[in-house]
Amino acid sequence: MEGLVYKSTGSWYTVKDVATGQFYECRIKGKFRLKGIKNTNPIAVGDRVLFRLEESNRGVITEIKERDNYIIRKSVNLSKQTHIIASNINLAFLVVTLNNPPNSTTFIDRFLVTAEAYGIKTVLLFNKVDTYTEDELTEVKYLASIYRKAGYECIGISATTGKNIDKVKATMEGKTCVVSGHSGAGKSTLINAIAPNLHLKTAEISQQHQQGQHTTTFAEMFDLPFGARIIDTPGIKGFGMVEIEKEELTDYFPEFFALKHQCKFNNCLHTDEPQCAVKAALDRDEIAWSRYKSYLQILKGEESVYREGEGE
Ligand code: ZN
Repeated sequence: MEGLVYKSTGSWYTVKDVATGQFYECRIKGKFRLKGIKNTNPIAVGDRVLFRLEESNRGVITEIKERDNYIIRKSVNLSKQTHIIASNINLAFLVVTLNNPPNSTTFIDRFLVTAEAYGIKTVLLFNKVDTYTEDELTEVKYLASIYRKAGYECIGISATTGKNIDKVKATMEGKTCVVSGHSGAGKSTLINAIAPNLHLKTAEISQQHQQGQHTTTFAEMFDLPFGARIIDTPGIKGFGMVEIEKEELTDYFPEFFALKHQCKFNNCLHTDEPQCAVKAALDRDEIAWSRYKSYLQILKGEESVYREGEGE
């Protein structure tokens, strides 16, 4: 039987039979791992698996299919093991606000780089558009124009009033999605606007965080009535960590990547090299300075892209 993992509690997995839509509690027998991944959990939410039934509603997972992508969290100890939070994600939403809380372009760019490295498409949601002044709206539109030029879809929304929530839903159709954003950016309000009956854990978890409590939670996937899936990742901040080689970084800035082959040197890092197409585009204002600045920061390792504690 072919299944999709919706929930993991460590030793038991909730698996949906893709043929019938029926859910089963499954466990794994023995050890099985995917090549090249040193992780603490063999099965993650979003995994496509094969399973067989042992009792009427309980089963055993016998095989895991190759993942299209996955997001990880590094364990805090020195074992260098990683925890796979979720897999096979088609779309990430990053909820951003101008000033409540303030979201820097550096924060946005770091998120986008990590998502690109994971191979996950991102849509930027500029939330709270109903609360901005004329000047602030102009600024939001300018920000959106930077990211549209870089190749990202941007939608101005209000999770509170419901503005453009239908557009968000339309982009989700048929996809498995995750929602990220700074605490206070309106992530849980958005999820509630998209799926009022889910009552995800996101909100209560972030409150617990503020109280300094240590909570271990598990990701969980939900079917939405309009043919999409959402993976709730309570208590998980940002997109975890990835290691990126300097030479690879251009690949994760789509508008740089498009020009890369026009640089004189094929290993151009777009810093001091002569006849660099990226810097030429920057001079012509075709690439935003804020994007180039973020690129340099990440390149020089001034600030880690991958820092935990950014957003949730
Ligand atoms: Zn270059």
